[in-house]
Amino acid sequence: MKKVLVLGAGQLARMMDLAGSPLNMDVKAFDVRTNNVVHPITPEHKYGGLAQGIANADVITAEFEHVAHDVLAQCQASGKLLPNSQAIKVGGDRRLEKALLESSNVANAKHIIIENKADFERALTQLELPLIFKSALEGYDGKGQWRLKSAEQAEAIWQEMSAFIDAATSSVPQGIVAEKMVPFDREVSLVGARNIHGEISVYPLTENHHTNGVLSVSVAAPINDALQAQAGQAFKKMAEALDYVGILAIEFFQVGEQLLVNEIAPRVHNSGHWTQQGADTCQFENHLRAISGLPLGSTQLIRPTAMVNILGEDTLPVETLAIPSLSVHWYAKEKRAGRKMGHINISGDTELMLAQRLTQLAQLLDKQAFPDLAEFASKYLAKVS
Ligand code: ATP
Ligand code: MG
Repeated sequence: MKKVLVLGAGQLARMMDLAGSPLNMDVKAFDVRTNNVVHPITPEHKYGGLAQGIANADVITAEFEHVAHDVLAQCQASGKLLPNSQAIKVGGDRRLEKALLESSNVANAKHIIIENKADFERALTQLELPLIFKSALEGYDGKGQWRLKSAEQAEAIWQEMSAFIDAATSSVPQGIVAEKMVPFDREVSLVGARNIHGEISVYPLTENHHTNGVLSVSVAAPINDALQAQAGQAFKKMAEALDYVGILAIEFFQVGEQLLVNEIAPRVHNSGHWTQQGADTCQFENHLRAISGLPLGSTQLIRPTAMVNILGEDTLPVETLAIPSLSVHWYAKEKRAGRKMGHINISGDTELMLAQRLTQLAQLLDKQAFPDLAEFASKYLAKVS
């Protein structure tokens, strides 16, 4: 039995465990808030602290990139951490991420790193407005971001950002990355795996929709070969540059036929949850296979599939379960406004069938809890009809 320790004890560790048990894998999770190793599904079962967790594991991985550097160092020193600590750090610091994109020649949005007021002034003159400023560390779900549309807002935004930098308590200094706003046609992401033998297998590109800065819907359907190849090239460059092992996710902006990388996530990713029902092998199983030295499972799309995030709700109307090819995945988390509580995967034999089922779903769900779903479903239906 392969023993895996996951840094982080949230829904991603939970879904790794659910995917790993049929493969006879034993997955434990290190809860960074309490410093306990816990069972990823029944967290009241505790298995000691980090040192014990490391000693008991065959392989260590992470479900999020903002792991404290001392924890990463301890895991890296054991020789069991995959992906390696540097890859995780790059995913957790936009400055390192941008440096990697530049050095690997992967197209991305024009940017300037800001550490002081002079850098800020330079960003205003060298990058055209509108701009987006993102905290270098600890950003997620659109948090730690400022948007600047006109020069009059500059001083107020600088005041807020400098206060934010000064208030940071992390061991690594906080900073800001200023980026040109990209007038994208849509957002897509590529989730793929690289195993310890350097073999790569990627899923089809997924189209992503955000509501108030948080992913709300992802759709995976057959995709244009040229675009898929472009994304696959970026994946190969990044994964090889990082000597990456495991699932890596890359978020892109699509502008015309060009893909620009927005950011990477060194882990299984929300935009890959559809793989649980829509692909031959789900991302959680492939992550475990990759880090365990097993052959990767097929990443082929079985049929068009969408994933709908459940945010801030802990129940759904039971009638939703009567929709064919629909499954619900709850994370057993305490209800909080806006929190990722679970997701719905829904499939169809064709995109038309998927769009019809999504429309049916949107009609059943609460409009306040899923504000954009009805509109998304009707546009999708119109597009594929
Ligand atoms: P998440 O954790 O949800 O991926 P995040 O906090 O890591 O989000 P980003 O993915 O960088 O942050 O940005 C969140 C969203 O803001 C993007 O998905 C995109 O819609 C928008 N955005 C970010 N950067 C740009 C840009 N340069 N141009 C246009 N839109 C942008
Ligand atoms: Mg993002």
